Amino acid sequence: CGIMGYIGKNESLPVIIDGLSKLEYRGYDSAGVAFYKDGEIKIIKKKGRLADLKQAIEQMPESGIGIGHTRWATHGVPSDTNAHPHTDCNERIAVVHNGIIENYAQLRKDLILEGHDFVSETDTEVIVHLIEKYYDNNSLEEAVRKALKHMHGSFAIGVISKDEPDKIIAAKKDSPLIVGIGKGENYIASDIPAILGRTNQVYIMEDNEFAVVTADKVEFTDFEGKPVEKEIFQVTWDP
Ligand code: GLU
Repeated sequence: CGIMGYIGKNESLPVIIDGLSKLEYRGYDSAGVAFYKDGEIKIIKKKGRLADLKQAIEQMPESGIGIGHTRWATHGVPSDTNAHPHTDCNERIAVVHNGIIENYAQLRKDLILEGHDFVSETDTEVIVHLIEKYYDNNSLEEAVRKALKHMHGSFAIGVISKDEPDKIIAAKKDSPLIVGIGKGENYIASDIPAILGRTNQVYIMEDNEFAVVTADKVEFTDFEGKPVEKEIFQVTWDP
């Protein structure tokens, strides 16, 4: 299970897929990407190896923002549908998640009663519907913060939206997540090897930290929105 996200001046997809390949040691049964292009969020995901995903992508689309995921299934069989990223009813938002949402069954029941249609068997899908629920009158970061209040369990998440395609939202509790700092480009990833060779400037996210990542800056807060001062970690090992 691995997460890789990119925002910046270059093509996101090759960077994301390369990053995911560096996280292969973590194990996975499916892989997928979501990216913003022409006013829409597009998702391509496949059960199986990264090579299968690459084949499904065929021509690398041009996009400066995207998130990718390798899944190690905990809730729901390995399948194309259960693979991440997951999206909401209106395909406005995409989410990748590592970890387990312990209270997903109750959340899912409540969200279905509120009119949300679920397509996968994963615990993760409740996250994207929760964000959707709060997104109407809020910014993406506010919607994600409100969703986080309902999520019990472990998670590292990456979130993008077609309505705010200039940012990736990241949050972490009990699953690893880092933010890599480039020049006019930034990254999120489960672990340092995913971005090594691209930058050696890294922030290691702590539990209950939240990040708004744009192409040229990163803002860290807690889940309530209170700013968090973090020290950059300089990676000294070679790729
Ligand atoms: N619990 C989620 C799922 O089964 C995430 C698994 C993972 O960490 O890859 O889809």
